[in-house]
Amino acid sequence: MRTTTRDERLAVARAAYADVPLYDPKRSPVALDLTDNTNLWGVPPAAEQVLRTVTSPVITRYPSLYAGDLKQALGEWLGVTTDMLVTGCGSDDVLDSAMRAFCDPGDGVAASVPTFAMVPIFARMNDLVYTGITEKEDHTLDVPALLATGAKVIYVCTPNNPTGCVTPLATLREVASQHDGVLIVDEAYAEFAGVSAVALVHEFPRVLVVRTMSKAFGLAGLRIGYAIGHPALVAEVEKSRGPYKVTALGEQMATAAVRESMDWVQEHVALAVSLREQLADALRARGFAPLPSGANFVCVPVPNAVAVGQAMRARGVAVRPFPDLPHIGDALRFSVGPWTLLETCLAAFDAAHAEVNGA
Ligand SMILES: *Cc1c(COP(=O)(O)O)cnc(C)c1O
Repeated sequence: MRTTTRDERLAVARAAYADVPLYDPKRSPVALDLTDNTNLWGVPPAAEQVLRTVTSPVITRYPSLYAGDLKQALGEWLGVTTDMLVTGCGSDDVLDSAMRAFCDPGDGVAASVPTFAMVPIFARMNDLVYTGITEKEDHTLDVPALLATGAKVIYVCTPNNPTGCVTPLATLREVASQHDGVLIVDEAYAEFAGVSAVALVHEFPRVLVVRTMSKAFGLAGLRIGYAIGHPALVAEVEKSRGPYKVTALGEQMATAAVRESMDWVQEHVALAVSLREQLADALRARGFAPLPSGANFVCVPVPNAVAVGQAMRARGVAVRPFPDLPHIGDALRFSVGPWTLLETCLAAFDAAHAEVNGA
């Protein structure tokens, strides 16, 4: 057998993939990692109990086709029928599958900027044309500009990653009622905001609300996401997603968490919300102006954010820098965790900011 050269590989690659890079958020190991907004308090107890008691068929046999047990549990929790739910290998998979389900190559995907970094990547992977519309100065959506793109899919993240800003339901309703295509509402952080667009799916058959168990539920390593929508809409996403996308262990652990550990989840959501405000206060006390957040992170404008981030990393703490955000400038995004960790983070931030910005 011959070794395939790099050029030969490129010659057979899909044209749309030619300049698609592998995702690299530069997440090298660090003592305290506050970059990914996961649950720093651990795993819901009912999920951990499943992990301790599973038997080998959970590993040797195939999982369920479309995660029926998990849909049942999610449906009871959210008050929707199982035919209004689709699951996936993380909500990333659900977003990717949804774009593929509703768009032909060359169709458009529009999103407000800044937003979740994976959206333009999934658009490119599906040979779609991505258009970013800069948000307004007050961090609200530019609805007419989003609609004017004529995109098949409009993506709105609320609370938005990386700003934390929440889009009011009235605005989502405005978009949904004027958009001919699909409105994807990414609610990866909805649990922390206490508001949700799930009710909109009963009013608008082309609204898909995408959620994850990676953030509030502390199950990022299991890769479980889901979406809620009209049964006909959800059925298309399920086709595009394909069978066996949620592992058997993942389905059992997630189902147990939803059925038996909602108290634990809610308790830690409430804690994250109160610590988020404590962190924002601590930043304001230092003269910064963090953006209002409905999520489990705080986005704060800081000059030379990339250099400050590097100087924090040198002190064993990672936060996510965002250079040159529109209307915001350089900013750092801090994930919220237990206060002792946030104190360590603030100490590293103070030293790094002094070093870089001479403040
Ligand atoms: C973290 C995150 C996701 C991805 O979550 P997974 O379910 O782990 O794939 C989706 N959307 C936003 C906005 C996120 O921040």
